[in-house]
Amino acid sequence: RKWSFTIAGELRQAAARDPHRVALIDEQRGEITYAQLLRRAEQLARSLRSAVGIRAGDRIGVLCRNHNGLVETMVAATLLGADSVLVNTGLSAAQLELVAQEQELRALVHDAEFTERIVRLPASVERIDEGRLEELVQQAPPGQLRHPERDGRTIVLTSGTTGTPKGARRRTPSGFKPLVSIIDRIPLHAREQIMIAAPIFHTWGYAALQVSFALRATIVLQRRFEPAATLRALDEHRCTALFAVPVMLQRLLEVPPPAQRPPLKVVAVSGSALPGGLAPRFMDVYGDVIYNLYGSTEVSWASIATPADLRRAPNTAGTPPFGTRLAILDPAGEPVPAGQVGRIFVGNEMLFEGYTSGLGKESHDGLMATGDLGHLDPDGLLFVDGREDDMIISGGENVFPSEVENLLAELPQVREVAVIGVPDPEYGQRLAAYLALHPNETLDPDAVREYVRHYRARFCVPRDVFFVPFLPRNATGKVVTRDLPRPQQR
Ligand code: ATP
Repeated sequence: RKWSFTIAGELRQAAARDPHRVALIDEQRGEITYAQLLRRAEQLARSLRSAVGIRAGDRIGVLCRNHNGLVETMVAATLLGADSVLVNTGLSAAQLELVAQEQELRALVHDAEFTERIVRLPASVERIDEGRLEELVQQAPPGQLRHPERDGRTIVLTSGTTGTPKGARRRTPSGFKPLVSIIDRIPLHAREQIMIAAPIFHTWGYAALQVSFALRATIVLQRRFEPAATLRALDEHRCTALFAVPVMLQRLLEVPPPAQRPPLKVVAVSGSALPGGLAPRFMDVYGDVIYNLYGSTEVSWASIATPADLRRAPNTAGTPPFGTRLAILDPAGEPVPAGQVGRIFVGNEMLFEGYTSGLGKESHDGLMATGDLGHLDPDGLLFVDGREDDMIISGGENVFPSEVENLLAELPQVREVAVIGVPDPEYGQRLAAYLALHPNETLDPDAVREYVRHYRARFCVPRDVFFVPFLPRNATGKVVTRDLPRPQQR
């Protein structure tokens, strides 16, 4: 086999066609071209083989923020036919230990800042920090890399919102399928300047990397998202596209907008729900640029909302792009009519192969369950109402946290909001609302309840109202509900 559709294959192609084009701009390590990136990844691969003993089929963990070293490691692993396991940088020491064991890691490439957190990893896992990584690149033995006997895979871990992160196997990390699907809705072309602010260890940031490679884009990476610095970098590098998670847009709106709008034409977000009203507010400042992709680690993405969709319906997840089938089914597996809530099922070419644990996901007629509930409007626009597991049943009535969250988000005092169900002796569950207010704002819990009562049924009114300085969030901006104070802890 001479050629395969992997991220390494694509990089080879890009380096052959556009060798002098800048591939990566990393705030700390500067710029490298496509030809340099390929050379460095090949050197790293040779060293990983000779000095670390990595072979085809081995697994290399990557615990890194967004930077060149992460990209070089992923490509080097693929060149050797090894798998890279992208590890969430938010995991605790105990979770990292579990992931290292379950994924049978041979080595772990990590940023210096995580050194303390990996002390409990099994001794068999070779640790490679940034300094050592650079040494491996620099001190590579000469020679040619033979085509590996198997394609390296990328294992993306789920966020672990509902428990331990699960490893999701992906067939080949080629950007071809995601690219075809994305350009069906999003105006991206070859050689864009793309900032990937979403974490690359998450399925969304990873997909953004695949798509960017496939476009031979110049990719701008920052280790941390910091709104003012991000705005400066967007302008400095004349970025035409930004791949982010929704909460980042919220943060960008909290700093003064630049005197001149950055030349952005696409701001694509995914990974968690767009908070109510955020899309139109952002587009009033930065233009009609937002594309909202609904998806998960298991299905990549299932639907895309365009700026026009979001102007019409600010919380919509849009429509399935080319190559994707979407169905809203009732418990018997029958499609539900428009307006009615059901379980969201998805079929596309990007579905994962199964968890590394061997488990799969429920499927129906070639479609995979997403674990979310949602509905279509009469025009076919999708609305994601929430996870099946998050639905609150209070006194026998079903309430989606998102419904009450979106309502509360419209209060001008509210900066961010989360609603969860908490056990209640009388009603089974009741609603608890957590509100973080804008600076110098106040709200009275009774006024909050009164407001909800005005617009919604009684069972939607949060009995417990908490004011918190900020909401605990994971890397994709999902609220970590287990870290919220519980009513009994008051
Ligand atoms: P775990 O499976 O370990 O609990 P997780 O499901 O949180 O982790 P992800 O695959 O990152 O891990 O999350 C996918 C979920 O995020 C979707 O099923 C959906 O609930 C939510 N989501 C993602 N994008 C959107 C969006 N654009 N709109 C609404 N919800 C979204």
